[in-house]
Amino acid sequence: MTDLPAILSPHVTLDVRPDWATHCRPGTFAPVGIVLHHTGGRNDLAIVVNGRPDLAGPLANLYSDRDAPYTITLVSGGRCNHAGAGAQVVLDEARGDIAPCGDAIARGLVDGPVGNGYFYGIEAENLGNGQPWPPGQLEAITHACAALCAHHGWTANRVIGHREWTRRKPDPAGFAMASMRTRIASLLHEEDEMAFTAADSANLEAAKNYLVDQQRENELLIQQGSRIIQLLEQIAAKQ
Ligand SMILES: [Zn+2]
Repeated sequence: MTDLPAILSPHVTLDVRPDWATHCRPGTFAPVGIVLHHTGGRNDLAIVVNGRPDLAGPLANLYSDRDAPYTITLVSGGRCNHAGAGAQVVLDEARGDIAPCGDAIARGLVDGPVGNGYFYGIEAENLGNGQPWPPGQLEAITHACAALCAHHGWTANRVIGHREWTRRKPDPAGFAMASMRTRIASLLHEEDEMAFTAADSANLEAAKNYLVDQQRENELLIQQGSRIIQLLEQIAAKQ
């Protein structure tokens, strides 16, 4: 089980549901990417956790509350009922770090494999009718995606929309998936810039060696200086 609280908590305000580690659907879960969704309703956390009469919960790994900016709720660390069947080519693209080039319906893609074992799901509260997305909610989603991508060594291209996965779905509506991926990529880039690299280590080691050498040289100069002063004093004493 991936340690999702440790991965996510430095990047978002994280609400961890106590049963997150065990609350999941039976079956395999080996994620290769992330699918984004909108809930299409209001205050849907209970539905995302427990499911609906026609679909057993959990319905996503993570939930984003519209009224709680920068906050993500960790619902499940395992397989969830969120992606359903989708296009084989999109699954292959995710595995190859290639972004989908459009929605499944526009690409004429047909449903193939079930994606629930292959993708984390993020359900974000939004009516999906053109309702604007609060910036703090989008920030929480992008930061959560970046944290997962960084942990798995994925590029932002592995973050896809449900509508890119399957022609059956219109979500998430109200933002372009390409700009979402660009924003996540910039967060990943910032993280790279901050990361302490092997080159940084080598530079630090070189700087340390230089300072040690300088210190030795200074000590030698001081020793030589003292000796010269000694000799000058001896000479002065003889005169
Ligand atoms: Zn969806």
